[in-house]
Amino acid sequence: MRTLQSYLGGKWVFGKGARQTLVNPATEEPLAEACAEGLDVAAGLEFARRQGGAALRAMSLRERGELCGALARAIYEHRDELLDDAMKNGGNTRSDGKFDIDGGSGTLAHYAALAKELGDARWLIDGDTIQLGRSPRLSGRHVYVPRTGVAVLVNAFNFPAWGFAEKAACALLAGMPIVLKPATSTALVAHRIFELCAPLAPAGVLSMVCGSAHELVGMLGYGDVIAFTGSSATAAELRRLPRVIDSQVRLNVEADSLNAAVLGPDVEAGSDTYELSVRDIVREMTQKTGQKCTAIRRILVPESLKERLREDLVERLRAVVVGDPFASGVGMGPVASAQQQRDVTAGIAALGEQAERLLGADAPAPLGVPDGKGYFVPVTLFEAEPSAARVHELEVFGPVASMLTAPDDPALTAELLARGGGGLVCSIYSDDRQWVARMLEGAAPHHGRLVIGSRKIADQAVSPGTVMPQLLHGGPGRAGGGEELGGLRGVALYAQRTALQGERPMLDALLGKQ
Ligand code: NAP
Repeated sequence: MRTLQSYLGGKWVFGKGARQTLVNPATEEPLAEACAEGLDVAAGLEFARRQGGAALRAMSLRERGELCGALARAIYEHRDELLDDAMKNGGNTRSDGKFDIDGGSGTLAHYAALAKELGDARWLIDGDTIQLGRSPRLSGRHVYVPRTGVAVLVNAFNFPAWGFAEKAACALLAGMPIVLKPATSTALVAHRIFELCAPLAPAGVLSMVCGSAHELVGMLGYGDVIAFTGSSATAAELRRLPRVIDSQVRLNVEADSLNAAVLGPDVEAGSDTYELSVRDIVREMTQKTGQKCTAIRRILVPESLKERLREDLVERLRAVVVGDPFASGVGMGPVASAQQQRDVTAGIAALGEQAERLLGADAPAPLGVPDGKGYFVPVTLFEAEPSAARVHELEVFGPVASMLTAPDDPALTAELLARGGGGLVCSIYSDDRQWVARMLEGAAPHHGRLVIGSRKIADQAVSPGTVMPQLLHGGPGRAGGGEELGGLRGVALYAQRTALQGERPMLDALLGKQ
C-alpha cells in the first residue's frame, strides 16, 4: 500500500515506525498509510524559519500574492483528481468536495487579487499618519511586519483543502513560512495538494508533516505561530503546553460551535424568507454529512411556525439519499471515520435523552454500499424544550440538529443563543428591521459572524456555513476565541504590528520605499 511522505527541509521524507491507515469511509477499503515517527521535525522547522522565512521576507506583497495565485491555479487545474480523492477518503459527495477544494483555490485566489493592489511594498501599513508633536513633522505610523518564526497550521479532518488554503494564504501574504499538519484520517487530499504546490515555492516556504506528529507544537518557540482548527478538547491541551505558555507562542484557535438559525416572528410560511431558512437548514445539516464547524445545530422557531417548519424539514431531510458518494443520486455520504461514527452515534443517544427524535430512527440502508460496511449515520432531527441543557452544550459533529421554540422577546432568544457559550455563526431570518436590530444587540457579542436572511437577498444569499475570505471567521468562547480571514485582517495573526514614531519625511521615505 502507498505510504504518504512528509515534506521537510525541502524534500520528501518517509517516517519510520507505527503507521496509520487511511480508508474509504463508505467501503472501509484501505487507501494509504501515514507515519510521522522518526522524522527530524526540529530540523525541518529550523529550515523553514531560516530559508523559507528569509525568502518570503525578501519578496514584495505583490510577489507573495503571485505565489498564492500559483497555488490557487495548481489546485484548480487538478480539481477533478482532488475531487476523486475527497470522495474516496473523505466520504464527500462531489458537491461536498467542490465546497472544500473550490473554496480552497478560491480563497488563495482572493488573497492573490488583494495583494496585486498592494504593489511592491513588503510591509502592510495599518491606518494613516498620526500627528504626535506641535507640528506635523513629528508623527507616527503602524506597520505589520512578518514574524520571524514558522507558522504551524494544524487542521481538522473535515476541510483538508480549504483548511490549508485559508491559513496558508494569510501566512504567506504576511511573509511567514508554513508547516502544515493535516488531520491524518483524511490526509490524502492535503498530501496531493502539497505534491502540486511544494515545487512552486522557494525552499522552506512550504513544509508538511503527514501523520500524527502531535509533538510538533511542543517544539515551537518565540516568534512562531500555531493556527489550530479542531476540537475544544485538543485546543485546551495545546493551550496548556509549557512551550506555548513559556515561550509566548502565538496560538489561534478555531474550535467547535453550536450554531443556530433563528426565524423571526414576522416570517410567514411559504414566504421567500421562510424558504431561504428551510434551504439553509437542510443544506447545513447534510452538506459534508454535517461535519462542518459552521453547520446549524439549533433551530429556534416561533411557536406559530413550528408545526409547518417541522413538517417541511422532515419531508426535505427524508428526501436526502444517503450512500456511497460514487453511487448515482446520493446526496449525503458517510462520516469520515469509524471514530466519527462512534462519536456521532453516542451524541445522538445523549441528545435523545433530552429531546424527541423527529427523524432518523428508521433510516433506510445506505445506497451502493456492501451490507454492514461504511461509517454511515442517519440524518437526525430532534425537537426539545428550550431549557434542555445538552442541546446548547453538546456539539454532535454530524447531520444532527434540534428544533426549539423561540421566546417572543428577542432578548430572551439571545439569552438562549448565549447558552452555546460562544459560536462561529448565527443566522437570523426576518424582514422586520426593528426585531433584527434587537436580535443583533443580543446575539453579536456571542458570535463571530451573524447572517441576516431576508426577502430582498433570498435569491442570492450564501448559506451561513460558507466562510467567505472577505469576512472574519472565528468566534468567542468555546468557538476558540480566534480570528481568521476577513481580507487583510487575516494577515495580522502572522505579523507583528509595530508602531513607528519619528520625523514624518523620514517615515514617508522609509515606508514609501518598502
Ligand atoms: P481534533 O481531534 O481536535 O484534531 C484536529 C487536529 O489536531 C488534527 O490535525 C489532529 O491530528 C491534531 N491533534 C489532535 N490531538 C493533538 C495534540 N495533542 N497535539 C497536536 N495536534 C493534535 O479535531 P477533528 O476531529 O479533526 O475535527 C473536528 C472538530 O473540529 C469539531 O469539533 C469541529 O467543530 C472543529 N472544527 C472547527 C473549525 C473552525 O473553523 N472553527 C473547522 C473545522 C472543524 P491527527 O488527525 O493526526 O490526530
